[in-house]
Amino acid sequence: MVKGISLLLVAVAPLFAWLQGGVTGLGWGVAAVAALGWLSASRRQRLSDRSAAAGRALSNSAPTKEQQQLDRWLRLLDAAPVALVEVQRGGVLWANATARQWLALDPQRHAGRPVLWFLPYPSWWEEVRKSRDGMTGAWQRDGEPIVWRLRWLGQSSGSDDDGVLWIEDWTERQRVEAMRRDFVANVSHELRTPLTVLIGALETLSERDFPLDPQLRSDLIAQCERQGQQMLRLVRDLLQLAELEGGAPPAKGWVTVVELIDEACEVGAALAPEGLTVTAELPESLASAELYADATEIASALHNLVSNAVRYTPPPGEITIGATERDGRLVLFVADTGIGIAEEHIPRLTERFYRVDRARSRASGGTGLGLAIVRHIADRHEALLSITSALGKGSRFALEFREGTWRQRAGARGR
Ligand code: ADP
Repeated sequence: MVKGISLLLVAVAPLFAWLQGGVTGLGWGVAAVAALGWLSASRRQRLSDRSAAAGRALSNSAPTKEQQQLDRWLRLLDAAPVALVEVQRGGVLWANATARQWLALDPQRHAGRPVLWFLPYPSWWEEVRKSRDGMTGAWQRDGEPIVWRLRWLGQSSGSDDDGVLWIEDWTERQRVEAMRRDFVANVSHELRTPLTVLIGALETLSERDFPLDPQLRSDLIAQCERQGQQMLRLVRDLLQLAELEGGAPPAKGWVTVVELIDEACEVGAALAPEGLTVTAELPESLASAELYADATEIASALHNLVSNAVRYTPPPGEITIGATERDGRLVLFVADTGIGIAEEHIPRLTERFYRVDRARSRASGGTGLGLAIVRHIADRHEALLSITSALGKGSRFALEFREGTWRQRAGARGR
């Protein structure tokens, strides 16, 4: 019993850590071996393939304190977010609920069957027992890629085939890691292009062996400035994205909708070349509307949309910035009569660095991050970003704020 209790204590820490929201795989493995080791001492017959409640049902007498403790442990092991299979001489002895589901395993029906039968690839059984730190296995379920981390926690006594097989689902983790790798590769690529041009121009400028034509000289200096600005925009956008993703929640307060639109129109007018008109469109009913939002963030979202509208609308053209009400929602929109976007690109536009035409985006000073920023800001305000567009005719980007996040200013006439 003393051994049992000490093993139980070994198991307590990771189990409770998991209950509180996080535990390492190894922690779980230790917990599993310890708890299963303890259970196997005398009670496996009774409890091996059942939940704790079922175990109790087998006994007519009222559960003892020890049984209650066992019940709790079995329930915890059962609910573990990793698959645990207790193995004896290579055969299935016990499996928790996750293992039963993932491996389509029924410990009662499959008791004693070789555990390798239940793995996606039987060769993993040999591989996992040989590997000291575990192995990562990729396979497909219903056409979907799945990544598992498998670890064999053999028992020090008994045969080589006695122990616990521990499996963790690493699919999401691998996906996030792949995204992070792609992101770093994208950022490096985005920085490398302006840096290469910048260094090339600087090298020519610093060439002392032959005098530079004044025109070429000023072109090169302008080139350096453009590339420097491009890198600065990229770094600013990256910092803003990082802040939106991991920073403080938005500082919300009541913001006047007219002011947001006026400010966006000013930005548009300042950016627009000749031949591009910028117009505000606000119905009288929304003249005193207020939005519960972070004013800086919404202004930044509108700024990005307006800057896109200007960059993707060759003159002569029109940009309309406005607000409207639809089904109780407040809609802020930026519409243009520009180049438009083919339908197949629309669902991917808010991905970081996704561009329909990379060269055109870069040439106009785009970073490929503007709409990702807008989407983040929309999410932080429980707003929806909707995009409608027709190739060659123009686009409309709208932020839809749900009922309850906007109001008519107190004292103003109702809508
Ligand atoms: P970028 O800095 O490249 O403009 P964004 O994230 O702001 O990056 O936009 C992603 C892509 O969406 C752009 O590269 C462009 O292809 C397309 N796009 C965005 N806004 C418009 C618009 N108003 N008209 C046409 N295409 C647009």
